Amino acid sequence: MGSDCLFCRIVAGEIPATVVRETPTTLAFRDIDPKAPVHVLVVPKEHYADVATLGQGDPALAGEVLATAAAVAEDEGLLGDGFRLMFNTGAYGGQEVFHVHAHVLGGAPLGPMLA
Ligand code: IMP
Repeated sequence: MGSDCLFCRIVAGEIPATVVRETPTTLAFRDIDPKAPVHVLVVPKEHYADVATLGQGDPALAGEVLATAAAVAEDEGLLGDGFRLMFNTGAYGGQEVFHVHAHVLGGAPLGPMLA
C-alpha cells in the first residue's frame, strides 16, 4: 500500500509514533487519541485492510498480531485486571484507518461493550 496508508507510513518510520513493542512482522504503538489509560494499537507490518482480509489471507500473521497484543497487555500490567482487544472492521464497525489494527485498551474498568 505504502504512501497512501497512515499506518504503513508509521511502520516505515515516515510518521512518528510512540512504539512500545516491535517484532519482525508487527509493530505496537500508542494511540494518538487514547480512549483509556492504556490504548495501544498493534498492526502487522504488511498491509491488510482489515481483520477479515488478514484472517483469511494470512492466519499465521493474524496470530502474530494477537501474540504481540498479549505481550503488550503483559508489559502494560493489564493481565491481572483484564483488558479489551478490539478490531473495528468496515463502515458499520467504525473503522477509520484501513490498515488492520488491534486496539489494546485497559488500565480502568471499561464498562459494557455495547451501550
Ligand atoms: P479505528 O476507528 O479502529 O480505525 O481506529 C483508528 C485509531 O487510530 C483511532 O483510535 C485514532 O485515534 C488512531 N490514530 C489515528 N492517527 C494516528 C496516528 O498518527 N498515530 C497513532 N494513532 C492514530
